[in-house]
Amino acid sequence: MRCQSCGDSGPTKHVVFYQNIGMVIMRSSKTVEGELCKACINQVFWKFTLTTAVLGWWGMISLIVTPLFLINNIGRFLGTISMKPHAIAPPAPHPTADLTEHARARLTPFITEIQHRISAGEAKDVVCGSVARRAGVSALQAELMASELGV
Ligand SMILES: [Zn+2]
Repeated sequence: MRCQSCGDSGPTKHVVFYQNIGMVIMRSSKTVEGELCKACINQVFWKFTLTTAVLGWWGMISLIVTPLFLINNIGRFLGTISMKPHAIAPPAPHPTADLTEHARARLTPFITEIQHRISAGEAKDVVCGSVARRAGVSALQAELMASELGV
């Protein structure tokens, strides 16, 4: 899931934080809701919660909503404490997505089968899936092999 605030991919959590600023007659409130990463959650939580705690109380409605907002924010924040921060390095490419020499050697006995079954009209992914299982390689590797064979 991508963070809807900073766009980074990584663990996110659906959160909603509120901020209230009381201005005696009027009040101004803000809401942030969405899937956010831990860094953005921390940033929004502290900004909204501290602002509300300091400036939230000035007004009749504000006296009511401010404690509710604070309870919501703290509750939501506590629910994200166990979240892991962004992974720094992107995950390594899956090793079975490449047609390695090893995979090529294991697929060699199946070359005629791949060619025959696909030219006989069987779907390529079905053929590659069944061959891959028996050859002990990934279906993607079998498909790469089939592409190399030109079928
Ligand atoms: Zn983020």
